[in-house]
Formats: sequence, C-alpha cells, structure tokens
Amino acid sequence: MLTGTMKTLTCKQLGGACDLEFHAETFEEMAELSKYHGMKMHGEGDKSHIDAMKDMMKLIEDPNNMQKWFSDKKQEFDKLPQDD
Ligand SMILES: [Zn+2]
Repeated sequence: MLTGTMKTLTCKQLGGACDLEFHAETFEEMAELSKYHGMKMHGEGDKSHIDAMKDMMKLIEDPNNMQKWFSDKKQEFDKLPQDD
C-alpha cells in the first residue's frame, strides 16, 4: 500500500540497534513506528535494543536534547528521497 509519498529510515538511523526499515509518510508516524518496535524488542529482552534505549533515555533526560534530537531527525527525514 505504498502511496508514493512514503519514506524509509532504519531502526539504527532512529537511535535503535538493527537494520529494520520503517516506512512512513510523516516523521511523527516514523517516530511512533520506531518507538513501538523499540518497546517490543525491549520487551523481548533484546540486549542491543535495551542498550540503545538506555542511551536514548540518557539523552532525553534533558528536554532540550530531546527537542534537538527530534528536530535533527526530522530534518534528516525531510531530506530523504521518497520511496519509489
Ligand atoms: Zn531495531
């Protein structure tokens, strides 16, 4: 169900730990997919994702960092070419 406006980022590109690809039309959607996946892997006890999540938690302890991370990644997303 690709509409032609989807973009792709990997789990790693979003601060995760694997090469799973997420496809979404907006960065907000992308962030949700990544968060859901991270929580699922965390729940399954996947060590690399648990570590990645710990790093992320440390980063976002400061709301300014969180804001910066979000806008950096959003910019990266905006610059991506659209999927074919
Ligand atoms: Zn992952």
